[in-house]
Amino acid sequence: MATVALLATGGTIASTGGADGRVPTASGRDLLRQAGLGGGDPPVPVRELELGGSFSWDLERMRRVIEEIRGCLAAPVRGTDGARPDGVVVTHGTDTMEETVFLASLLLDDPRPVVLTGAQQPYDSRSPDGPENLRDAFAVAAAPSARGRGPLLCFDGLVFAARGVTKVDTLSHRAFGAPGRGPVLRVHDGRVTALAPPGPPHPLPGVDLDTGLPRVDVVALYPGADEALLRAAAETGAAGLVLAAPGTGNTAPRVAREVARLTGAGVPVLVCSRVPSGPAVPLYGGGGGVDLARAGAVFAGDLSPWQARLLLSVALAATRLGAARAVSGWLDG
Ligand code: ASP
Repeated sequence: MATVALLATGGTIASTGGADGRVPTASGRDLLRQAGLGGGDPPVPVRELELGGSFSWDLERMRRVIEEIRGCLAAPVRGTDGARPDGVVVTHGTDTMEETVFLASLLLDDPRPVVLTGAQQPYDSRSPDGPENLRDAFAVAAAPSARGRGPLLCFDGLVFAARGVTKVDTLSHRAFGAPGRGPVLRVHDGRVTALAPPGPPHPLPGVDLDTGLPRVDVVALYPGADEALLRAAAETGAAGLVLAAPGTGNTAPRVAREVARLTGAGVPVLVCSRVPSGPAVPLYGGGGGVDLARAGAVFAGDLSPWQARLLLSVALAATRLGAARAVSGWLDG
């Protein structure tokens, strides 16, 4: 029988309502009991990381979650001859789950499944979706077909690879999708079916996280946007920038000029599209993507601005001077 460890980090799945709004109050063991997963032999190893709503985290907290996942993977399971768990489930707020799963995919290099899940309905709802999601996530973490795919996000019976997964609905149970890519596994009644062949884990090598994750800001571009926010971000300490640009990655000439100034000063700039599906590619002049590419910006394919921001931050942690090249290498690889 496969052993799966649980790391509980709060989120709606653990939240109960009160006068001040929903806050996480249920422990990992409460979640296991509610899902009917408590009481196995050996008992599920549980780690609690009381972090509250994922919407209020910073990069340091996200980094701690990754450290805890590493700890879960390395810890011998009690009641065994020192065996390590076959997989890890992480309960997590849905608001930023797509960021943590992607950061984990950049930093973890282990074939064992790490599966993030959560809920849209709180723990004390009359019809919570958390218990089913948790049972599904445990089934996926124990499934041989989930191995070697890097960290995964499991929600409402579908399982997504880290790259490209995003929250697509604020309230409905089908909260996640991967526009242009789709799910890689399906899970129903404990049975896991592969929908796509495994893509190997794709971590970024050479990252020393002891120095922390450098700040990277996302700047939205829209009609009338100018260089002011890019400049303000760099002047207040951003080590890199991600542009959330219209269409295939376009902007106004004055923004492209500021990008040239920033990349010349050693601040890497990535270009992503505001459009949910399809890559950013340099096609247009007159302030379009061709000007941004000439200004030294790196086009980040179909990565969302939120995931691209983490890629650039991890690349900066690995190599301050070669970050733009490291990002290009990762995207090509
Ligand atoms: N709405 C969020 C959730 O689904 C809250 C959070 O991200 O912590 O858990």
